[in-house]
Amino acid sequence: MTTNSSMRFYTTLAVLAFVEFFTSGFVLIFQPEAGLPATLVAPNVNFVWDGKAPPFSDKETFRGGTFADQSDHDAMLKLLNEAMATWSNVPGSFIKLSVTEDAGVASANRTDRIYSIVLAPTHSASSAAYASPVAETLTPGHRVISDCDITVNTAKVTLAFMVYALTHETGHCLGFGHAHDNYRSIMGYSRTPGDAKLGADDKAGLIYLYDDPAYGDGKVREAVAAKCGVLGEGVVGSHVWVLVVLGLPLLATLRRGRAQ
Ligand SMILES: [Zn+2]
Repeated sequence: MTTNSSMRFYTTLAVLAFVEFFTSGFVLIFQPEAGLPATLVAPNVNFVWDGKAPPFSDKETFRGGTFADQSDHDAMLKLLNEAMATWSNVPGSFIKLSVTEDAGVASANRTDRIYSIVLAPTHSASSAAYASPVAETLTPGHRVISDCDITVNTAKVTLAFMVYALTHETGHCLGFGHAHDNYRSIMGYSRTPGDAKLGADDKAGLIYLYDDPAYGDGKVREAVAAKCGVLGEGVVGSHVWVLVVLGLPLLATLRRGRAQ
């Protein structure tokens, strides 16, 4: 390839990657959308944990043994705080999540409007935790997730899986469904155990629901808003569009490159 055509090739690749990056959408769990009842001026939402943890099987090896001397309780508290911080530290989103421990308050009661994290046997042996978000219309046109309890299974589990599960379930409480087409998303299905980092879609979804207007530039927020959540035909359609509009020039560039 000549310098010109290889430049075109890489520019096209970069544009393709950029558009692909911005077209795999986040998924909202409720339609119409609902989020936690937090605002720019009151950004805090607290979860109450019952103080109970499942038995962890990898304390000696997880993160180089840094959890080796900790009780299951202390290890669980650390992971809970990590999961909350992961969502609280996204630039551009105002939401701030925290967790406190109170066995007398935490309960899997879906109408008490307390965001609880409790230990209990779950139906499925394969799931370490599940969330049960409840959306309510408090004022017309404004839906909030008024309750969301996370039930953690009593079965033995690894810390590596738990940190992912807690971050993922907290994502449901924030208003997100499963990102079927994006495996880099924490709301997708396939993750390496121990990896609880948010994907680009998770961050975009968070900024969409909990947008801090003081942050960043308007163009980024427009891009986030334009994605507009819910997975369906639209997401499939947008991928086809990417292939047609950008795939053809890419092919043409490649052919030209070969001819030269
Ligand atoms: Zn899930």
